[in-house]
Amino acid sequence: MKAAVVHDFTAPLVIEDRPVPEPAAHQVRVRIEASGLCHTDIHAARGDWPVKPSPPFVPGHEGVGIVEAVGGQVRHVRAGERVAIPWLADACGRCDHCVSGWETLCLQQHNSGYSVDGAYAEYALAHGDYVVPVPDGLDPMDAAPLSCAGVTTYKALKVSGARPGTRVLVSGIGGLGHLALQYARVFGAETIAVDVTDDKLALARQLGADHVLDARTQDVAAEVQALGGAHAAIALAVSNASFQAAYGALRRGGTLVLVALPAGGKLELPVFETVLNGTRVIGSIVGTREDLAEVFRLHTLGRTRVIRETRRLDEVNACFDEVLGGEISARLVFDLR
Ligand code: NAD
Ligand code: ZN
Ligand code: ZN
Repeated sequence: MKAAVVHDFTAPLVIEDRPVPEPAAHQVRVRIEASGLCHTDIHAARGDWPVKPSPPFVPGHEGVGIVEAVGGQVRHVRAGERVAIPWLADACGRCDHCVSGWETLCLQQHNSGYSVDGAYAEYALAHGDYVVPVPDGLDPMDAAPLSCAGVTTYKALKVSGARPGTRVLVSGIGGLGHLALQYARVFGAETIAVDVTDDKLALARQLGADHVLDARTQDVAAEVQALGGAHAAIALAVSNASFQAAYGALRRGGTLVLVALPAGGKLELPVFETVLNGTRVIGSIVGTREDLAEVFRLHTLGRTRVIRETRRLDEVNACFDEVLGGEISARLVFDLR
């Protein structure tokens, strides 16, 4: 099978022929149809974060495809079903986090395309209990971006406390942000979209943002304060400066949800203002299997639109450059069919 492999954090990925993997008793083998390119894959391939993957590895955690072979212990998935392979490759299933609905915080979790090989390949192995069924009629090319960009931003909106009548700022209208904006609308909020490219600002308008701000030319914090301040700000831009702006845009009692993970990311907080304003700053990491099932359902109901372009897997290195150059409409998806 063909796979895109990271051998070195400073070198391009290599397209290689690898043996088609055989599932262990708890695993399934998925023939990948669609594999989304998340900015996290670029961080992984470059070793951007304090905890690094070990090369050689195959990135990709927006994998969607058909189950082809099933290990002897797998009960809930059958050959022929379409499933998603998300970032949460597996978790222990027994710790306090796992049993209280916070499996994404499990200390024993594995992550697709990071600590285990992911979906930048024609086939991938996955844990039978942690793949998420893709409903019939949901286009696999849409399901792929929903499997990380969708579920991550849906969960971020949930923890932000957004509800009808609140004002929500979405910072960065890329792969994650274009879906965050739509979920903010689903949650009934007044929306403010911020980006730094003309195309993304136009996309935010198309998707129905109530206010659109250009961080290159406008003072985001001041503009949002003039509207009354944001009840919640979702930080999705790969930029430290954007965190500061999002924090500054909050109203009293507001919540900053940190999601983007730039290399060496830092946010300096003034303690006095944070205390007096009762500001909440929280981190949010992907979402659970149940969150992803809800995301798929909302999409099937027509509540969201995935804006995407397709590419071939052997274009992966050029694709990384396109994402970093801000040239993508929102999400790139490798079509492996
Ligand atoms: P992306 O490259 O598709 O989108 C980033 C967007 O931010 C782009 O539209 C870009 O123009 C915009 N931007 C850049 N500078 C800006 C600024 N100063 N102000 C406003 N907008 C600005 O990336 P993505 O795939 O959406 O991922 C975003 C980040 O989220 C990455 O760091 C990724 O690793 C992280 N991520 C986190 C989680 C999680 O669970 N916490 C999950 C997935 C991705
Ligand atoms: Zn991702
Ligand atoms: Zn656990």
